[in-house]
Amino acid sequence: MQHSFKKYSQILLGAALLLTLSLTYGGKAEAASEGVYYGLHPEVAEKAALVKQIAADQGILIRYTDGYRSFEHQDALYNQGRTTEGPIVTNARGGESYHNYGLAIDFVLTDHYGNAYWSLDRDVNGNGVSDWEDVGNIAKSVGFSWGGDWTSFPDYPHLQLDYGMSVQDLQYWYNQGYYQFAY
Ligand SMILES: [Zn+2]
Repeated sequence: MQHSFKKYSQILLGAALLLTLSLTYGGKAEAASEGVYYGLHPEVAEKAALVKQIAADQGILIRYTDGYRSFEHQDALYNQGRTTEGPIVTNARGGESYHNYGLAIDFVLTDHYGNAYWSLDRDVNGNGVSDWEDVGNIAKSVGFSWGGDWTSFPDYPHLQLDYGMSVQDLQYWYNQGYYQFAY
């Protein structure tokens, strides 16, 4: 009787372990290829997931709103507020944004319910530093550049990994046919 109980416990433990492993693996697979991570350079997706986790550990919740954008999507965004309705949201045409090469991702601050907060002085973890800047600092610590540092046109939600390449460099290689969306 005792023996069979022990065996039963072992089976349960094994099942729980398998479930944990598959959930972990599933989470990673999702981070690499689905939803807002779709089309991103795998390292960008991986680091973005890490930033989100570190921020949460510091009491700051974020959600990613925008990652890879096709050239066509970027052109449509550029046209908004110029030839189509709505406010102007970008100065970059198709091919002029790191988003078009899967190297940028945008976040927004949220609460536990997923509601978005855009206020620049939000400081939910009460450390005297704006949460946007906290997340920017976390992002920089893992290798991203943060749009909030841009003096001429600050872009607080924007994180990018450029590998030292300018948009002109990326356009050059893209036009040479070397660039493929193989992520
Ligand atoms: Zn962006």
